[in-house]
Amino acid sequence: MADSTLGIGLVLPDILGTYSDAGNAQVLQRRLQWRGTTATVLDIRHGDAVPSSLDLYLLGGGEDDAQALAVNHLRTHPGLQHAAARGAVVFGVCAGFQVLGTKFTTSDGVPHTGLGLLDAVTAPGSKRAVGEVVVDVADRLGTEPLTGFENHLGRTQVGNDSRALGPVRAGIGNGDGTEGALTGRVLATYLHGPVLARNPALADLLLAWALGATPSALPLPEIGTLRQERLRAAKRRPHR
Ligand code: GLN
Repeated sequence: MADSTLGIGLVLPDILGTYSDAGNAQVLQRRLQWRGTTATVLDIRHGDAVPSSLDLYLLGGGEDDAQALAVNHLRTHPGLQHAAARGAVVFGVCAGFQVLGTKFTTSDGVPHTGLGLLDAVTAPGSKRAVGEVVVDVADRLGTEPLTGFENHLGRTQVGNDSRALGPVRAGIGNGDGTEGALTGRVLATYLHGPVLARNPALADLLLAWALGATPSALPLPEIGTLRQERLRAAKRRPHR
């Protein structure tokens, strides 16, 4: 792992950057650094072509107009869709989640065709969902519950070709008692935080997918160091 460099694409941070979700890229990069692996983070801005060669793509939240602009750009420059087709990891948050679905309708009633990487359709709800969220994801992701905060009007119906991440224990999420969506290595959620800072196990799951490893094969060096140090200490001071 030490000589591989992971390519992370931060997709349209200039328009899908309202909720500090760009921090997800920093979390992934830092967690790799701690393990002696480097990652390059490429900002893919509005107007830029979208490269299809990266390992992992991140999309953040934004308001309706920004979201419509984003989906038009990504449909015109389909590098992200090509990357997903060859197995790259894609992670979307809120507006990014809705953009990855098949269709979303903005609050002005205008329908937009999504990228179709998730079987998910979004329409405006009657009331904005704002507040803390807890989602049970043990069955689907095998990790501790996810925590984050939400701020969205859209409600999302997940179809048969995708699965929700799990039931919400607190908050609104998709609006039907579930949260997020997953198809293969395309994963999306309504949770901000940045969500990968709040949920390191989710960060490690995405990294494991991108590296072709399992999360348990990605121990953090400081844990190993502490363990070795404690083992040495026990040897120095055996119980009488
Ligand atoms: N504009 C979308 C909505 O309100 C997404 C908002 C967001 O990304 N926080 O549903």
